[in-house]
Amino acid sequence: MAGQAASYFSGFARKVYMVIRRDSLSHTLSDYLIKRINGIKNVEILYNSQVMELEGDRELRRIKITNSRDNTNTWYDTSKLFICIGGNPNTDWAIESKIIRCPSGYLVTGSDLLNHEGFKESWPHERLPYNLETSRPGVFAAGDLRFNSVKRVASAVGEGAIAVTQVHQYLAGL
Ligand SMILES: Cc1cc2nc3c(=O)[nH]c(=O)nc-3n(C[C@H](O)[C@H](O)[C@H](O)COP(=O)(O)OP(=O)(O)OC[C@H]3O[C@@H](n4cnc5c(N)ncnc54)[C@H](O)[C@@H]3O)c2cc1C
Repeated sequence: MAGQAASYFSGFARKVYMVIRRDSLSHTLSDYLIKRINGIKNVEILYNSQVMELEGDRELRRIKITNSRDNTNTWYDTSKLFICIGGNPNTDWAIESKIIRCPSGYLVTGSDLLNHEGFKESWPHERLPYNLETSRPGVFAAGDLRFNSVKRVASAVGEGAIAVTQVHQYLAGL
């Protein structure tokens, strides 16, 4: 997301600073995007860096960036800051009902459940789970909170529609 955003902003911003905490982009960006960003003249990547302070009056004026390698602070004049730091699914409610989640908290559905320890022992049906069904029969997941989802509006909406169909299938099979 941050890589695509930086590439997009470079089309109309004088200068784009991409602030990353690690010493490389390769942990989080695909190779083609790293090459594209490295080829854009007005994008500068600040490695091992973190935003520490913002200063402004009626609007943002400057940002303090700390480099964790040499512990230096640098102020950058800017009125724009875009934060692309990923997200966490809000799925703690699923813990109590023992719905299987991946280590990052996304709800596991369909055939992805088959690889999960304990699933086969706890699944009460002869049939396999529907592809949007969680480890709890009759509970379906659609959109970003689902493990392995595409993270796009169109796919979230599509999955919502498919989930409705699968709910009907589930009810018909009771
Ligand atoms: C900055 C950014 C830019 C993006 N740009 C694009 C783009 O250009 N094109 C594209 O296709 N996709 C884009 N996406 C991805 C897209 O927004 C998501 O894939 C899509 O919104 C997923 O829809 P969703 O319904 O699964 O989740 P969300 O849209 O996140 O909706 C989940 C809703 O559930 C609510 N909620 C959470 N927990 C609870 C709870 N316990 N009880 C009740 N409600 C709860 C939340 O408040 C939220 O309203 C972007 C995402 C971000 C963050």
